[in-house]
Amino acid sequence: MKIGFIGLGNMGGPMAANLARAGHEVIGFDTASVVIDGVTPANSPTEAVEGAEVVITMLPNGKILRTVADEIVPAMKQGAVFLDCSTVDVDSARAVAEQALAAGLSALDAPVSGGVGGATDGTLTFMVGGDEAGFETAKPLFDIMGRKAVHCGPSGNGQAAKICNNMILGITMIGTCEAFALADKLGLDRQAMFDVVSTSSGSSWSMSTYCPAPGVGPTSPADNDYKPGFAADLMLKDLRLAMQAAEGADADTPLGAAAADLYRRFVEEEDGAGRDFSAMLPRFAGRGRA
Ligand code: NAD
Repeated sequence: MKIGFIGLGNMGGPMAANLARAGHEVIGFDTASVVIDGVTPANSPTEAVEGAEVVITMLPNGKILRTVADEIVPAMKQGAVFLDCSTVDVDSARAVAEQALAAGLSALDAPVSGGVGGATDGTLTFMVGGDEAGFETAKPLFDIMGRKAVHCGPSGNGQAAKICNNMILGITMIGTCEAFALADKLGLDRQAMFDVVSTSSGSSWSMSTYCPAPGVGPTSPADNDYKPGFAADLMLKDLRLAMQAAEGADADTPLGAAAADLYRRFVEEEDGAGRDFSAMLPRFAGRGRA
């Protein structure tokens, strides 16, 4: 397939490289003019999308996505698929999809979970919103870049699934970190705490797979001095998107709001910027109730 790829950063770079390695013709563009193995660099976004059957975007936010869409949609081949894998607000995802459909294209919003490791290893999970035909066209590409793609319904539903998932993740990580810090203060050994909770009703992915306590459970960013992994800054971004969506939909999300506020304080007022989101544990462990 001929693929245009726009946004070759930490995630987009390895995703594009995997597509090229699998034999697809990948033309890439990034404002930072990066070089990616096997990807032909284009001088402009329009050059990257020319004649492409699928155009993938992997960009920082909805505002940039909308700007890029204004530029590339008119330059895309009729019937091509506009496949956005960025994490953006549901409104931007739906607006860009409408714009693409009006121009005779197929549109999918397909944010991912799995982080840079998943992008590199080709083991991402895609949460996909948009039409069935576009999903079928993109399916072989999802299979290269990831190991699971779930079609979640019409445009915007991929982003909806992503932010709901990450709202749960933010809340459970905070809960797990709070509980470890409380256990410390009650004199309960962290290994004993893990041994009990990881197989009990308090278990979650945050405890069992991504344990925030160093030296306990499977290897995680906690064992690497809380280097991300999944940065607290990105968790804050996703929680803000969740809160924006909740406000628009009149959904009551008190724990999501509390998690968003804690990550905001952690990233903007404390030492959380650039650290893994599980570094909430040393944060709680080093504090009293005040
Ligand atoms: P990144 O900042 O490393 O990459 C974004 C790239 O887009 C950069 O290389 C930047 O130069 C480029 N860019 C910015 N504006 C552009 C424009 N107008 N035209 C072309 N290129 C442009 O970010 P990332 O970590 O790769 O994340 C990309 C998206 O994936 C984000 O929406 C993020 O929320 C999401 N995501 C990231 C992770 C992760 O662990 N990093 C996990 C899941 C989802």
